[in-house]
Amino acid sequence: MTQATVSTRPDWRLELQRAYKDPVDLLVAVGLDPAHFTEDSAARTLFPMRVPRPFVQLMEHGNRYDPLLQQVLPAKAEFDTPAGYSDDPLVEQTPEVTAINSAGLLHKYRSRALIILKGGCAVNCRYCFRRHFPYDEVHFEQNQLQQTIDYLRQHKDINEVILSGGDPLMASDRQLASIVSALSQVETLKRLRIHSRLPVVIPSRITKQLTHTLATSRLKPALVIHANHGNEISESLGAALKPLRDAGVHLFNQSVLLKGINSNVTDLVQLSERLYDIDVLPYYLHQLDKVLGAAHFDLPQAQAKSLWQQMNAMLPGFLVPKLVQEIAGEPSKTPIMPEGLVTP
Ligand SMILES: *Cc1c(COP(=O)(O)O)cnc(C)c1O
Ligand code: SF4
Repeated sequence: MTQATVSTRPDWRLELQRAYKDPVDLLVAVGLDPAHFTEDSAARTLFPMRVPRPFVQLMEHGNRYDPLLQQVLPAKAEFDTPAGYSDDPLVEQTPEVTAINSAGLLHKYRSRALIILKGGCAVNCRYCFRRHFPYDEVHFEQNQLQQTIDYLRQHKDINEVILSGGDPLMASDRQLASIVSALSQVETLKRLRIHSRLPVVIPSRITKQLTHTLATSRLKPALVIHANHGNEISESLGAALKPLRDAGVHLFNQSVLLKGINSNVTDLVQLSERLYDIDVLPYYLHQLDKVLGAAHFDLPQAQAKSLWQQMNAMLPGFLVPKLVQEIAGEPSKTPIMPEGLVTP
């Protein structure tokens, strides 16, 4: 009856530790010859590689064009420096730390404020607009919490707090519970949202304790996951999310439109269909932010609009994500509308 018989280290922590960090190991694991990827692998110096094993299990063995592999494997195209791409496309870095106010909040939009809970992620996506971001410098300090609460009480327009990152589910269940509990004492807050890719790459991150924290909060909870291709929607993801859904947590997905990965209507429709199969609704489809090192993933806007129109023809309205772009200084994400439609 000693407590030591129970491992205190949850499974997802082990998966984080076991993640592939060397392209050679990843390539061998998916049955590809690392000798053919020497120039590509060098791009890990631009942005470290990090890929959890449950995500690798969803890749097709021997397929160098696998849509999941291409999102995470360093590529020599990352060394390209085309005009129009910068290391801070959203002009929030310089450093982004300065956009975060003393309450630890990024308050750009009127009714919602965002907490960068953890700078790091479980997976490093090659297209990420934060690839040049000083990750390690940013995380929410527990001793900031009182200032956060004070700020939220003074800004009654804010009715929703978004936990973001990096990936906020890199935080421990205990830290999450304490933050959610503090936030729920702010009367003007109605909703709590979590933006995380972790459930997709390590489904066991959805622990009983996390579910309990969200299910028992006064705040209406929503979880926005991040998957870009139907192959990311695994059975274990569906099984992991089910208790959250049963507990009344609203589930959404956001994606990034990525050339060669999901830039055709068949894949986009399949993604929406598979999301619905596991009770997740598509929310946003982001046009890529023009970050240096990711230009090879970018798609001309005309093509994005055309794809989005084709999705409308093939899916019910509630399975068509909003096509959006983030434009610095705008009061919300900016919808990209096909010609002929009136922008609000
Ligand atoms: C995207 C974003 C939000 C959330 O926007 P929604 O349209 O509500 O999803 C909030 N704050 C910041 C800084 C954001 O970038
Ligand atoms: S999980 Fe999100 S924030 Fe993290 S590397 Fe991927 S896209 Fe970027």
